[in-house]
Amino acid sequence: MDFDLFVIGGGSAGVRSARIAAGYGARVGVAEERFWGGTCVNIGCVPKKFMVMAAEYGAQADDAAGFGWNITKGGHDWSQLIKAKDKEISRLNGIYQRLLGTAGATIFEARASFIDAHTLDVGGQRVTAERIIIATGGHPTRLDIPGAELGIVSDDVFYLPNMPKRIAIIGSGYIAVEFAGVFAGLGAETHLIYRQPLPLRGFDADLRASLAEQMAGNGVILHAGNTPVSITADGAARRVALADGQVLDVDVVFFATGRAANVKGLNLQAAGVKTKPSGAVIVDETLLTTAPNIYAIGDVTDRLNLTPVATAEGHAVADTLFGNKPRKVSLENVPTAVFSIPPIATVGITEEQAPPGAKIFVTKFKPMRHQLSGRQRISLMKLVVDAATDQVLGVHMLGEDAPEIIQGMAVAVIAGATKADFDRTIGIHPTAAEEFVTLRTQTRVAGAAIAAE
Ligand code: NDP
Repeated sequence: MDFDLFVIGGGSAGVRSARIAAGYGARVGVAEERFWGGTCVNIGCVPKKFMVMAAEYGAQADDAAGFGWNITKGGHDWSQLIKAKDKEISRLNGIYQRLLGTAGATIFEARASFIDAHTLDVGGQRVTAERIIIATGGHPTRLDIPGAELGIVSDDVFYLPNMPKRIAIIGSGYIAVEFAGVFAGLGAETHLIYRQPLPLRGFDADLRASLAEQMAGNGVILHAGNTPVSITADGAARRVALADGQVLDVDVVFFATGRAANVKGLNLQAAGVKTKPSGAVIVDETLLTTAPNIYAIGDVTDRLNLTPVATAEGHAVADTLFGNKPRKVSLENVPTAVFSIPPIATVGITEEQAPPGAKIFVTKFKPMRHQLSGRQRISLMKLVVDAATDQVLGVHMLGEDAPEIIQGMAVAVIAGATKADFDRTIGIHPTAAEEFVTLRTQTRVAGAAIAAE
């Protein structure tokens, strides 16, 4: 065999597995056809967060007046933002590639496809490997409606030549909600079109309701319970017809309607690797596919499509195969954040998922900053506590700094902290986070809010 391990895909999952395996002394090859660092670094988490920050600066400039600053806000320069973002992304690309080189992996800037379970065609070259990891990620999908090709997806949004003056975003998952904040914050007329009554299906209901209110307060035009039926072009402009008969005239239509696994052209059947009807590669809890020497990690398996999960999986497979440290990655209590404005972050179960009788603690308040800024902003924090064991089963927050705060809370939840542990923790004052350790009065039992609706 040419290699002990061959990794297909140089994203977060693939790079981590290759680097760790090479560190254990394995002979490792990695193929990447597009860009090192994959979705997260190039067309996902990283550039998205820069854009969210750009949007937040505008509001912060307005807020500063409440603190005595006399700031005259000029216009926003979209091309300057894209240029600065591109410069940083290419720096990160370099780091990812260098990490692999330093670890001793052999790099192929080419596409790979299976010839059989141990043989790959890598850019026309025949390569053999004892074990193979599929880490090819996913891609955004459009709805199947007439004119769908006239819309963009998240791959394109980072390279728009101009900032749209009017945008219609379809969906209300992570990407839709995050970019609604970006475009509204940068001054676009922003429409969010989604089929649910509230955005972010699956998140805690109180957070969803509160986020919808605050997005509306930020100027996002919410089209709840609606869906697009067609898109037509009028020169560069786009016209979106909605199911309820409304018509929206915009510059850009943005599909943020989910993602699908990148398996096209891999020739998986030649290797005996089976997929779900959606195309996602089927894996067991050790991330082994239906072929005995082939693993799949990250978004190509379409389970919990988050970068830190993908890197953890890459690390675990490398440890298991080459480090003599067999281990699995638990998908329980994975903390997650939505970088909406304001952001949401959460770990553990929601109130809707709580066992009967679970204790619910909720607080809703105007953050200190906005007492002076005058901005209509609220933060909402919630604990879900098991009535029998006193264990904290869920921690949820909507509000500024939520992702930074919940990361620490996740350690407590993973460690099995009880409400009594939270109560005996001294707060840091004055912060929003201290509310989590000063929630003395139970708000209700789980299900009461839902029953009252
Ligand atoms: P999501 O799966 O989160 O959301 C998809 C959205 O599209 C939902 O609102 C869904 O509605 C809607 N939708 C799907 N099909 C249809 C349809 N036929 N008609 C109308 N609406 C439809 O996908 P995203 O594209 O937002 O993001 C993909 C994934 O990437 C996320 O789930 C997440 O795992 C990851 N991600 C993580 C981020 C983070 O950690 N901050 C940021 C961005 C992405 P409904 O709810 O009704 O199904």
